Amino acid sequence: MRLVLLGAPGSGKGTQAARLKETLDVPHISTGDMLRAAVKAGTPVGLQAKAVMEAGQLVSDDIILGIIKERLAEPDAAKGFILDGFPRNVKQAEALTALLAEIGQPLQAVVKLEVPFDVIIERCRIRFEQEHRKDDNPEVVRDRLKVYAEQTAPVADFYAGLGQLQTIDGVGELDEVTKRVLDAIQGA
Ligand code: AMP
Repeated sequence: MRLVLLGAPGSGKGTQAARLKETLDVPHISTGDMLRAAVKAGTPVGLQAKAVMEAGQLVSDDIILGIIKERLAEPDAAKGFILDGFPRNVKQAEALTALLAEIGQPLQAVVKLEVPFDVIIERCRIRFEQEHRKDDNPEVVRDRLKVYAEQTAPVADFYAGLGQLQTIDGVGELDEVTKRVLDAIQGA
């Protein structure tokens, strides 16, 4: 299964991807997790990305496309993948389409987790208290949601235009939301 999960920060993409990877037996590929690991390890990518991430802005497409290209070339991605946090703008979505066309492995499903604004704000506040992620600071969350509305929401339109977008309700028990995603994929 080659799946993209879309949704605002705090919509539950990471949580759901971590559960779905077991059921679908494919790797969970999160550009946010990869960047956080790079920051922690102090790699050149991490050094470039750190301040941009802390400000809630998007890391450059060149860096992101570089890490995605490398990751998708790993052997475990040959059986499929769940992309979480990528693509984050239309340019990345177009680049992904081209990359997957090159290897003859087009996406099979694109599922967007729909979560109301006030729930997103509350989830990020709780995550900030629990995980202390600097970009979950309520002020930075406001900027991340602005970036989402301006740059990432059009990615859903991009896939809707291709007839690939499925939107599900991202509010509810974790098991319920997982089931909704699986039902959507089965119908894709
Ligand atoms: P996430 O964990 O997906 O919310 O990502 C955390 C941060 O990493 C984002 O706010 C961005 O600064 C950066 N990031 C993650 N994925 C991408 C991407 N596909 N394009 C640009 N920046 C990204």
